[in-house]
Amino acid sequence: MAYKYIDNYREQGARKRLVELLNKKGIEDAQVLAAMGKVPRHYFFDETFWNQAYKDIAFPIGEGQTISQPYTVAYQTELLHISKGDKVLEIGTGCGYQTCVLLELGAKVYTIERQEKLYHRTKQVLPHIGYKTNFFCGDGSKGIPKHAPFNKIIVTAGAPFVPEDLLKQLAIGGILVIPVGDEQSQKMVTVLKVSETDYEKIVLDTFRFVPLVGDRAW
Ligand code: SAM
Repeated sequence: MAYKYIDNYREQGARKRLVELLNKKGIEDAQVLAAMGKVPRHYFFDETFWNQAYKDIAFPIGEGQTISQPYTVAYQTELLHISKGDKVLEIGTGCGYQTCVLLELGAKVYTIERQEKLYHRTKQVLPHIGYKTNFFCGDGSKGIPKHAPFNKIIVTAGAPFVPEDLLKQLAIGGILVIPVGDEQSQKMVTVLKVSETDYEKIVLDTFRFVPLVGDRAW
């Protein structure tokens, strides 16, 4: 049977409860919560696993990768302080769930994925479920110089350090959100680009991401 994209009351209700849970866990930005409430996360799951889609857990999406935990997506998105029309670079497209949340907030998203199979699959699925964006395949640890500068950059894989190329591609006043650490755990780091040479860095909570694999990473 062909896969059907249906957003039933059951899924809508489960999504509403997930948003309430995210709020209880500390996500306060009303626009971020609203965006999380709009994206049908079950569309990224095989129908057999729809009952898992609105649990606050990461889940395997193939190619050894995962769809991020909703709390992590909301947490990183909140830190980005997205304004409508922001040009955002997302590194680690994966299945595109985070991409959709950014699009719901009115961002202009450039998303890059290093795994070809995932890139092709997501590039096909997203427009099909109503989300149009700019897809790239390659090593995002080097950013996408051709399309820089970006108002915001989000890295959805764990990096050993903040790649210099990403700082260069950030607009002045721009924000980079990136998990930095070893392969076991990372601290969420935000970097505000104050001027061409000055940055304000804040180190936040601990997370566990799949590794950022590339020339400026692992
Ligand atoms: N953003 C996704 C979501 O919404 O669920 C989750 C992404 S998953 C946690 C991390 C992704 O980063 C994987 O798909 C992985 O292949 C990708 N990745 C790892 N290193 C990368 C690199 N250097 N450039 C681009 N993508 C990379």
